[in-house]
Amino acid sequence: MSLPLKELIKIGEKQLEDVGITDAARDAKLLYCFFDKLDSVGLMMHWQDVLQDNQCEGYFALIERRAAGEPLQYITGTQDFMGLTFQVNSDVLIPRQDTETMVEDCIELIKKGTLRGSDYIKAQSTKDILDLCCGSGAIGVSLANLCDNIKVTCSDVSDRALVVAEKNAQANGCKSVKFEKSDLFSAFCSKFRKKKFDLIISNPPYIESSVIPTLQREVKDYEPMIALDGGEDGLEFYRRIACEAAEHLNKNGIIMVEIGYNQGEAVTCLFEETEKFADITCLKDLAGKDRIVVAKLSTKK
Ligand code: GLN
Repeated sequence: MSLPLKELIKIGEKQLEDVGITDAARDAKLLYCFFDKLDSVGLMMHWQDVLQDNQCEGYFALIERRAAGEPLQYITGTQDFMGLTFQVNSDVLIPRQDTETMVEDCIELIKKGTLRGSDYIKAQSTKDILDLCCGSGAIGVSLANLCDNIKVTCSDVSDRALVVAEKNAQANGCKSVKFEKSDLFSAFCSKFRKKKFDLIISNPPYIESSVIPTLQREVKDYEPMIALDGGEDGLEFYRRIACEAAEHLNKNGIIMVEIGYNQGEAVTCLFEETEKFADITCLKDLAGKDRIVVAKLSTKK
């Protein structure tokens, strides 16, 4: 069997469509590009090529993986985030566009001291940053790449995630990013001293345990449960973060967390209840849903 490339991709698309993959046409093309190491221009230039059996088989093997529900990004091994390319595998969550919104807000805070245009902190005071539960390192590495004169530490409880994050820091030219294996703040508490930061940013696991089986199979069958499961009410990690974060923030320090669309009020309350934070603000994502909670260490004792 030999097939023209455009026919091959049509068959791939049909196979994905038949099993209900939403972006079948896009995925069929992107998988071919990955298979033949082409970009989209290259793909157009080869559109009329006739392919031999072994090429077709190699491509269909990838189509089968995608048809079985494996996310495109785990097959190709990459996801773009904040204009950078991140390596991903099933040890880390695939970076989401919603998280880019939080990173953009964070960059504005670091560079200008404002939050969506309104004054929030004194600019230039945010130097020492912690990406807590860093996974692939998408947040911390993007900040290190896109902001000058900051020190970034990425921490995660998963050794395997840290391996991916370190590779991503190297690949994106962020050699000075530090990595710590840590169960939330555990590695930053020595007997005598707690390590403190100017800003702590985190996308912790936040899906309610009972909701996980209802998620799309790409997520529930392939992404790491440890990065998704936020316990019975989804708030387990925010509870611990709200309790412990103040002790790891310098004066005027900021905590910024990604949240689920229905967690704005609950997470705001968790920070309020500690009485250690001021200006607790909930921000929306591009779809208009609650997505980020930001709080400032209170100056009151
Ligand atoms: N945003 C992810 C999702 O919807 C969850 C991320 C997380 O739990 N931190 O699947």
